[in-house]
Amino acid sequence: MSGTAMSGEGGDRWALEAYGLGKKYRSRWALREESFRIPAGRVCGLVGPNGAGKSTLLKMAARLVEPTRGELRIFGRPVGDPSVMPRYAYLGQDKPLFKRFTVAQCLRMGQELNPGWDQAAAERIVREGQLAPDVRIGSLSGGQRTRVAFALAFGKRPDLLLLDEPMSDLDPLARDEIASLLMSEVAERGTTVLMSSHMLSELEHMCDYLLVVADGRVRMAGDADELVPLHTLVTGLTTDGGLPEALNTHTVIDVRRAGRQFTALVRHEGPLDPAWQLAHPSLEEVLLGYLRHPQAPALLSPTAVPGHREEHAA
Ligand code: ADP
Repeated sequence: MSGTAMSGEGGDRWALEAYGLGKKYRSRWALREESFRIPAGRVCGLVGPNGAGKSTLLKMAARLVEPTRGELRIFGRPVGDPSVMPRYAYLGQDKPLFKRFTVAQCLRMGQELNPGWDQAAAERIVREGQLAPDVRIGSLSGGQRTRVAFALAFGKRPDLLLLDEPMSDLDPLARDEIASLLMSEVAERGTTVLMSSHMLSELEHMCDYLLVVADGRVRMAGDADELVPLHTLVTGLTTDGGLPEALNTHTVIDVRRAGRQFTALVRHEGPLDPAWQLAHPSLEEVLLGYLRHPQAPALLSPTAVPGHREEHAA
């Protein structure tokens, strides 16, 4: 381990860097010694099936779970460095808020625990949800509690927001509201967000960076605008029930058949047969292809591949 502390712009370039990061629960790896990084200022969607290792990764970043192997850095510094703690906020699936506290007491607690607390920002979020300060948390709906949890997270004025399925218990209206809130905070302050979600359309709308995990491995990582155009949806006819030979010169991620017709999501490695019908897939179509086939060859864009730690310290 280099252990070199980072500071200044170089250290702030990457919100999160993982080097051979792994977590093993008893005999099973939840995340298998993976290396990747997320640039600062991006909204990164963390995507994968249940049990893929998403919560484990977010909890390691929030220091709720200790890695078995490897190292995790936030803004260039090891997560255990005291200077890192005030820079991130974590919102877990269980949103642990004291039920007997009022909304105002929750915010006061946030103020006392966080030196850089922004009371006005936290109050604004609560007020926009029409939540009275004297209402007890226990009497709020799931969505309203989520709003208070967001107020606590934003009040901390974090540079990195770690969100584990933050909107899963919200109705469509509240979802939309919280999503706009999140996006306006991001636009205003340049906050980096790492957010797990199963809602692919929502991710398509909100995220510009992707981290796809399956079975504890990173399957895809990078800028959505770079990754999606590497793929083509190819529609054509099967030959003797099989896929055309020429398709094998490309990396086939997913194939679906309907009668004699096939539609394949491919990473094109050169020109595609003009006899085929070609289309640009949406982000959702690309994600679905990788989620259906976790064994597909991984795809990491250069920005998502960390260099050596020593290189960063230079
Ligand atoms: P996801 O968030 O993608 O659904 P998790 O990170 O929660 O996935 O889980 C990844 C794997 O680790 C799963 O197989 C899960 O059963 C296992 N796991 C998670 N937390 C624990 C734990 N505290 N003890 C034992 N196994 C765990």
